[in-house]
Amino acid sequence: MGNQSTNPTGHYVDGEWIDGRGSETFESEDPATGESLGTFHRGTDADVDVALEAATAAFEEWRALSHPDRAEYLWDVYHELRDRHDELGEIVTRECGKEISEGRADVTEAWHMVEWAAGNARHPHGDVVPSEIAGKDAYMRRKPRGVVGCITPWNFPIAIPFWHVAVALVEGNTVVWKPAEQTPWCGQVVAELFDDAGIPDGVFNMVQGYGDAGEAIVADDRVDTVLFTGSAEVGHEIASTVGGEPGKLAACEMGGKNAIVITEHADLEIALQAAVLSSFKTTGQRCVSSERLIVHTDVYDEFKSRFVDVAERIAVGDPLDEETFMGPAIEADHVEKIRRHNDLAREEGATVLVDRFDLEPSELPESPTDDVATADGGTTDGGAAGRGDFADGHWVGPFVYEIEYDSDLRCLREESFGPHVALIEYDGDIDRALEIHDDTPYGLAGAIVSEDYRQLNAFRDRAELGLAYANLPCIGAEVQLPFGGVKKSGNGFPSAREVIEAVTDRTAWTISNESEIE
Ligand code: NAD
Repeated sequence: MGNQSTNPTGHYVDGEWIDGRGSETFESEDPATGESLGTFHRGTDADVDVALEAATAAFEEWRALSHPDRAEYLWDVYHELRDRHDELGEIVTRECGKEISEGRADVTEAWHMVEWAAGNARHPHGDVVPSEIAGKDAYMRRKPRGVVGCITPWNFPIAIPFWHVAVALVEGNTVVWKPAEQTPWCGQVVAELFDDAGIPDGVFNMVQGYGDAGEAIVADDRVDTVLFTGSAEVGHEIASTVGGEPGKLAACEMGGKNAIVITEHADLEIALQAAVLSSFKTTGQRCVSSERLIVHTDVYDEFKSRFVDVAERIAVGDPLDEETFMGPAIEADHVEKIRRHNDLAREEGATVLVDRFDLEPSELPESPTDDVATADGGTTDGGAAGRGDFADGHWVGPFVYEIEYDSDLRCLREESFGPHVALIEYDGDIDRALEIHDDTPYGLAGAIVSEDYRQLNAFRDRAELGLAYANLPCIGAEVQLPFGGVKKSGNGFPSAREVIEAVTDRTAWTISNESEIE
């Protein structure tokens, strides 16, 4: 066991760092500069096969440990996450481009999750129920399902893996995890944390790569549960593949077309802050980011003018700079995807209020000159070259439009996953606001800004959502709460306590205390 390999860019399988069985490699890219951060082996079916073999072989011994004994390994990981918080936060920011406060928050959320899962190892885990027959005890016990395949996105590259992996391991499952292809450096770092904690061979395995490696995990009979977080397209494909296999489970968390409802009773300062944070923080690339602002006619003009004013002024900046509010988009393909959504809105009749999507060179931050670490453990050259040129990064700015609500508009129904925001004016009561709000295939996150408790209660009770916020931005997650959506946004809440449902089976256990069976 342990990392004896001199190759830090491979997969982590059966307690060893191994090169890929295939010959292909891929690069991790700094979204702010387009510079390579390191080269990684691209996982193939054969790599997934050995990882699943190791996870299957390790299962019996791992499940035989007590919950608190399994949690001991997680506590080691927890302390490392806390001790290396700032360093790991910087790696998140380098690799996925989100602002440094968000990079660090990703690591904070990871140790919150580990704390919850490991702490839960000492909490009650079943139900004692009264038997209908005197002299019998009846209770429900949970047991691990077996091998859990975890597939995660790039936008929370350290937090989301822990939502899946931490609970799966404490409950006695073994894991094969595939990080997103955009964030293999974060994948490597997470695997190093488990390796440093001395996790027994084969209990935690990580295979780098693209969607084909994910498909190989999903399709394999040795996988008992798939935990997936990512796009609706991929999630639905996974759910339908797994749905045809009795005994196999898939818990999928996907995207949204989230909205904020701003009623005639809103405090407009709160509404403005909520809308700006929800729409532009992390460059709109959070699953909970809002892309629709549904605003009552009585406050529409004032809100519009204040929101547009802020969107005109928001500056993009070096994500490593503490002052930066908005960093780059993840990659060139994603910039093009958001651009197609902007074009779609125009084609569907939008009146564009702010079009700063293609930023002027003068709007880009000054290119950096500091030395920074790279994935292979070295540093960039520093000096004039610095860590690259911001002119080659994937920068985008706000795109804001107003449009008359119509149920057929695709721009109001499809996720852009960028700083693309529609203002929709409504007239009428909270029922009308809810009608517009719920008119998407998704149901992930949404907020209402209002000082009328009846409107707040109506939104809480009737909005088709998994996550609802009142007088707050659509942002943030607390690990002790469920996190996930309804409708096309998800089927399983694969975070925190809901993961327990997905990674355990229940046994209804009835035992007689009598010496004779009647
Ligand atoms: P994505 O679906 O493209 O990729 C997610 C993961 O799935 C990656 O690891 C990818 O390699 C893998 N994958 C791709 N095709 C696959 C296939 N056919 N079979 C198995 N695995 C496959 O998503 P992304 O671009 O990385 O992330 C952005 C999306 O994730 C957005 O839609 C966002 O809303 C969503 N998201 C949801 C949540 C949530 O909790 N609801 C959280 C974060 C992100």
